[in-house]
This record gives sequence, structure tokens and C-alpha cells, in this order.
Amino acid sequence: MAAAIKAVRGTRDILDRESPTWRFLEATAARVFSLYGYRELRTPIFEKTELFARAVGGDTDIVEKEMYVFEDRNGASLALRPEGTAGVVRSFIENGLDRQLPWRVFYKGPMFRYERPQKGRYRQFHQMGCELFGPPGPMADAEMLMMVMRFFIDAGLEELVTLELNSLGCPACRPGYREKLLEYLHAHTEALCGNCQSRLERNPLRVLDCKNPNCKEVAASAPRTVEHLCTACGDHFQGLTGHLEAENIPLTVNPMMVRGLDYYTRTVFEVTTTALGAQNAVAAGGRYDGLVATMGGRATPAIGFAMGLERLALLLDERACPDPATPTVYVVAAGEGADLVGLGLTEQLRRLGVATEINLQGGSMRNQMKKAGRSGAPWSVIIGEREVDEGTVQLKQMATGEQQTLASEGLAERIAGRLYDGS
Ligand code: ATP
Ligand code: MG
Repeated sequence: MAAAIKAVRGTRDILDRESPTWRFLEATAARVFSLYGYRELRTPIFEKTELFARAVGGDTDIVEKEMYVFEDRNGASLALRPEGTAGVVRSFIENGLDRQLPWRVFYKGPMFRYERPQKGRYRQFHQMGCELFGPPGPMADAEMLMMVMRFFIDAGLEELVTLELNSLGCPACRPGYREKLLEYLHAHTEALCGNCQSRLERNPLRVLDCKNPNCKEVAASAPRTVEHLCTACGDHFQGLTGHLEAENIPLTVNPMMVRGLDYYTRTVFEVTTTALGAQNAVAAGGRYDGLVATMGGRATPAIGFAMGLERLALLLDERACPDPATPTVYVVAAGEGADLVGLGLTEQLRRLGVATEINLQGGSMRNQMKKAGRSGAPWSVIIGEREVDEGTVQLKQMATGEQQTLASEGLAERIAGRLYDGS
């Protein structure tokens, strides 16, 4: 036998048995996002490398060491998208969408980061996210967070998650905070990891986000962004928490949260869980009022978030999600002439919208009945030689074992009718 080729490290198949969970998550999110007026935007999976370098920021882990960059055949540097916002912003500017604000879009699809693979962390993973362009005030932030929490409620996951919130300030107050932070960090430089030391001057806020235990200890007593906000940022943060409290949305202010991307201003948030070990964030986002202008568009306030579908699927664990491919009827056809009748009936049932499976591999009646049981179908139709001769079938309710003889004439309609009125 030839050697089998394995999937690339950090990638995985979403197997057919897992896909009901994925479809449940995707359908729940799409339904909730639609309730809030979001339409789907599909952007390319690869873009110019410089798009991510500029949008995500050169000092971030993503751009420094996680991107899949490659050269096109004509030498252009391209990258597989590591996140969704950069492409959405590019599309917003390129398509002149700033003339019809607010603009609400959601996206879903694979993202790529060269990370150390572990449970809940892959090199190809999937996100669903939303972006809202236009409104600058805390009402927009509040609406988005209500939508995020509505999703977790509808997915049945609200008990497992916490909403964490922080404010990073704006170009007016961040420089002053940065100075205070740098002053503090300079007094603790030796304790920091190499990575943090090397980007200390360029981006001291990264230290607050570092997962190294020593850096975490230093960060714990560092000056806090929320205590150094200008009046406008302070009002924005208070406005937001006020709205959320009025709506009884439980939240925790986490002054240590700075998020791993450079583009955020004011509000940042994460939805975290204690159920997934080290990979504790299932959704994350924030306001990015400066990004559109940085990317060459007309200055437009915006806010967005993304959630990780692999981690959400892990949270759902073994919970059963609706599986549209589970048959409602399983057709057992054994004996002379039964195949023909069986396949015809199966196709008619499907035409009427009844998910139906027919055994395609022959075998004894007994063996086929076992397969009918395993299929999960609540009903089976049994066609043996006698039924073919008499022009009848047996309809069996699997749960009770109750069985009745029905005439073949108009059979599909009658079975479908019976299933629909639940009799
Ligand atoms: P983390 O701190 O776990 O690395 P992050 O801050 O890099 O997360 P974001 O860029 O904000 O994550 O992406 C939003 C969400 O996407 C995360 O909260 C997580 O659920 C998911 N996510 C990010 N990276 C991965 C990955 N490599 N594999 C699986 N899911 C991921
Ligand atoms: Mg990360």
C-alpha cells in the first residue's frame, strides 16, 4: 500500500459527525446577527501582505510571527488572512460604503495563523464576526455587546461565559497613559520576558497582554488604562456600562485586557470561559475609530468582534444539535421486486420533503432492520416479497414497534401526511 498523506499540522477536518454542531452555531449566529440588521460580507481569503501589516500593526504577534505569507507567481507578497477586520475595512473603503452609514456586516470563514497547535488553537481556524461602521457613541457599543450576549443565550452557552470589558482610551489620553506605564515598566525591566523587553519602547501596552507568568506579575501592579482616561473616553465608558447595567447584562471590568491587535480605541472586550483550559477567549473585539483613516479612507468610527468557532464547538461539547440529514424514514427492501418499489417510494418521499434513507447494500431483512434502528429514523417502511405481490408496505414506528399495512397506491403522500399531523 502507498503511504497515506496526513493533513498539515495545525489543520483539522470538521468531520460529518461534527457538522451539525457547526451548522447550529453558524445558523444561530446568522439568525441573531440578522435580527440586529447585519448582512453577510464575503471577502477574499488572501490579500496583500501590507494590508494586514498596516491594519493589524507591525508590533503584534500576528504580523511579527504568525502570518502565512507567500509570493505570487509575479512576485507580489500576499498573505492568508489572519483575521477578518482588515479585509472588511479594505472593502468598506474600496466600495465607497461610507456614503450610506451605518454599515453593519458579518462574515464567517477560515483564518490562518502560524501558532503552536493545541486544544482550541489551530493554524487554520474559523471565525464569525461583525463590524459596525458609523456610530461613534456608547449606544453602538452597548447594542453590539447585547447582540453578542444574545448569541450566547440562544446557543445555550450563557452559563459558561463571562463578558470582560476595558477601555484603552484614545489618541488624546493614551500617550499620557503610555508615559506612566513606561515609567513603571522601566523600573521592572529585568522581570520581563525577552519579547516584552524588545518591544517595550515601541509598544509597552503589549506587556499587559503577555502570557508569561513574570510579565503577568509585573502587569498586575501596573498603572491602569481606565484610571487615565480623558473626560470624553471616561464618559464613553460610563455610558456603555450604564446601558449594559440597564439591560442586566452581567460584566466584569478587566483593566489588564489590552487585546492583541494595535487598532483598538476606547472599548475592548472579550467573552471568556473557564471550560477550555488555557484557551479562555471565545470571542473578542473592540472599537477601532482610527483604523479606517489609517487604511486610507475617510475617518469613520467603527466597532467589531470575532468569535472562534472551534472553541464554541468545544463548549457545546457533546450536546446534540439538530441534524437535518438524520432520516425520518428508513426504507428496508428485501426480496424480488422490492428494490424497484423501495427506491421509487424513497424518491417520492424526498420529493415531498421527508428525509429518507434506503438500504443500498442488500442483506437479510433482519440485518436491514438493524441498520434502520441505527439510522435514528423514527419510522421505517418494510417491503418484502409478500408486500410486493400484494401491492402493500409495512409502516413501522420504531419507538413502539407498532406496525401497520398500507396499500402502495398514493403511499408517499399518505406517509408524509401521517408524519406531518403526528398521528
Ligand atoms: P488568543 O488570546 O486565544 O490567542 P486572540 O486574541 O489572538 O486569542 P483574536 O484575534 O481576538 O484572538 O480572535 C478572536 C477569537 O478567535 C478568539 O477569541 C478565539 O476564540 C479565536 N481564535 C484566535 N486564534 C485562534 C486559533 N489559533 N485557533 C482557534 N481559535 C482562535
Ligand atoms: Mg492569539
